[in-house]
Amino acid sequence: MSGIDFQAVREAVPLAQVLGLVGWSPSWVKGQARRGSCPIHSARPHGSRIFAVDGNRWYCHQCKRGGDCIDLYAACKGLSLFRAAAELCDTLPRGRRAVRPPPAEQEEER
Ligand SMILES: [Zn+2]
Repeated sequence: MSGIDFQAVREAVPLAQVLGLVGWSPSWVKGQARRGSCPIHSARPHGSRIFAVDGNRWYCHQCKRGGDCIDLYAACKGLSLFRAAAELCDTLPRGRRAVRPPPAEQEEER
């Protein structure tokens, strides 16, 4: 079984980038904290604040789940964590250098 270094993927892929991939944008921003509708339950009306992002972690108050970039991608796409990590590697072959973060994220580089 080909190995995926989950830790390396987590470090290489900012959560903000995955949020961009799944088409999420916050309706509320304060420092590193962002809130908006839940990308997993996309039926939620936009403008809701049930989905919270803080740095590289997220939590949805509606579905009571949270995690990191791989967990989010897996949940949104209905993939296993392994498949999600593999797709993220495919989509972003050189991690954060391959794709520019959205404008709001640029000053959050560590
Ligand atoms: Zn949710």
